[in-house]
Amino acid sequence: MCLVGVFRYNSQQIKQMKPSFKPSDRLNLPAYPFADLERKATALKASGKPVYNLSIGDPDLTPPRFVIEAAQKALDDPRSHLYPSSRGDYDVRCSVVKWFEGRFGVKLDPDKQVCITIGAKEGLANIARTVVNPGDTVAVPDPAYPVYGRAGCQMVDGKQVLLKLYPEHGFLPDLKSIESVKLLYLNYPNNPTGAEAPDDFLVELGKLADANPAMTLVYDMAYSEMCFDHPARSILEFTPNAIELHSLSKMACTTGYRVGFAVGNPDRIAALIRIKEEIDSGAPLPFQLALQAMLNAYRGDVPPQDILYYREVFSRRRKLIIEALEKMGFDVFNSQATFYVWFKVDDDEMPFISRALEKGVLFTPGSGFGPGGRGWVRASVTVPDDVIAAVVSAIEDL
Ligand code: PLP
Repeated sequence: MCLVGVFRYNSQQIKQMKPSFKPSDRLNLPAYPFADLERKATALKASGKPVYNLSIGDPDLTPPRFVIEAAQKALDDPRSHLYPSSRGDYDVRCSVVKWFEGRFGVKLDPDKQVCITIGAKEGLANIARTVVNPGDTVAVPDPAYPVYGRAGCQMVDGKQVLLKLYPEHGFLPDLKSIESVKLLYLNYPNNPTGAEAPDDFLVELGKLADANPAMTLVYDMAYSEMCFDHPARSILEFTPNAIELHSLSKMACTTGYRVGFAVGNPDRIAALIRIKEEIDSGAPLPFQLALQAMLNAYRGDVPPQDILYYREVFSRRRKLIIEALEKMGFDVFNSQATFYVWFKVDDDEMPFISRALEKGVLFTPGSGFGPGGRGWVRASVTVPDDVIAAVVSAIEDL
């Protein structure tokens, strides 16, 4: 073993070295809001106190057995030992096509309209690189999942336009206010609010995309399968001029597998594949095959039992938290989707977060999702039932 490098400098010499590394301006962002919360949770845990972490949308439930087994079996497939393709395995893309037609009634071409991604996050970030030149305008909902405004805009030197989501309009934006943007991100079922997009909104959004062919509409459906009373609809049912993101993460409780897919307009998909060819080598095949197993388990638009179970558990937990919050007098946004509860605390946002933290309960401050989230708090019910019960009693007298 060569240890020369290890002993090259002593600790005194290292201290005296002038810092020479300066990150690019693109990294000049405030800390990723959830990373900061994760640090606080870790510190609390280290101090020996119980921590009830409702701040991250990372489902605690076990993935379907057949999904795990598909990934395990694939490790013995010699193809898994090689580089995957940047656009994704052909058979997996064909399963996406079959699923999409059964689920949404939209036909896709597996060669031109599907790209497997390393989770939806990677696709959302890389799409920005395909279309945004420095100074181009990127419309970002407010509040929103932070990736759109950061990786999808600031990190590609775009100019951000905040698109306010109005509580009184079910956290939908005013589409008439959108003018000549290069890239538009929208996300329903919505993180952080749990809002859903009604059909009349999707009709108008489809018309907007058709009337603005130079604009790239990115529709994020990471929570497409997490609706409790009626299924979410795809924007591709309303316009072909969009690119839509899906993910195995929330569908199968497999955030660690890092696999999802982008579908839609062939030019945008081709551009995404080009970027991915330069940057990554695609999602690992075992996890692509896990995705395939999940999609193949649908019968038309009927999901497998596991998804019905996840919906039942998350909706039951949501009800418990909502009841507790309403008893305390909080105004909770009425939603029937996602595993988030979004509630209003007005001027009390940060004091409320601190008081909850003192009791070991970690919520996400709404302002972490943009200025439009100020005065709101998000609770994620992705923790076991006994933790939900402990939270309900811990927050009683907050
Ligand atoms: N889109 C939204 C709205 C999300 O909330 C998340 C994760 O929390 C993602 C995308 C990322 O999903 P993935 O795990 O597939 O990267």
